[in-house]
Amino acid sequence: AAKPEWIDVERWLTRTVVKPGPEHERALRAAVEHGMPAIEVQPTAGRLLALLVRISGARRVLEIGTLAGFSSIWMAQALPEGGHLDTLEYLPEHAAVARENLAAAGLAEAVTVHVGAALETLPGLEGPYDLVFIDADKQNDAAYLEWAVRLGRPGTVVVLDNAVWEGIVLDPSRDPENGPGILAALELLGGPLFDATVIQTAGSKGWDGFALAVVR
Ligand code: SAM
Repeated sequence: AAKPEWIDVERWLTRTVVKPGPEHERALRAAVEHGMPAIEVQPTAGRLLALLVRISGARRVLEIGTLAGFSSIWMAQALPEGGHLDTLEYLPEHAAVARENLAAAGLAEAVTVHVGAALETLPGLEGPYDLVFIDADKQNDAAYLEWAVRLGRPGTVVVLDNAVWEGIVLDPSRDPENGPGILAALELLGGPLFDATVIQTAGSKGWDGFALAVVR
């Protein structure tokens, strides 16, 4: 569980360093109003995604797991003129809220929200993507990484969220739904297809972290 001081520090950093805009606040409000789960990335991580898009010079970005479009907004805002984000979402009701939020942020043109199970949508997409952000059902994390390679190129940046999950690698059976999927993904990241690391984080989402990789 999140310690109160982790949450306080995250709030301070968000207010003082990250400074989310009204479009980010609006997206979060819309998610609450639609009764969606508050499982989007923190603003500190949203800004990190935006920075990674800029640092890598990505023009084509793929996101798996849209929710209300919060992380999509951060990444799409960081794209250069003519850049594009494809984001995949299973639930039509989530996709509808995301489309509204993206339109309100002036990003309707820059982002396509694809509705359906990602493993069914992915074969219809064309690479190469420059950056892939994976944040959907953890059971399929390893399969999504394989797709990131297939739809990527050497040098494609891959970010996998929830890679620490309260230290799940120590005992994946503690969470039979998500644990084995996260473990399989981390093992794949340690193999010959990627150069990767995992950064642990502490904040409002508790003890977690993300994997950062490039396709070899
Ligand atoms: N990336 C979002 C953000 O930070 O704003 C949060 C995404 S949320 C953690 C995960 C989303 O993935 C949910 O909206 C869920 O409906 C969606 N999802 C779950 N299984 C999926 C699947 N098989 N294919 C596509 N999306 C899926």
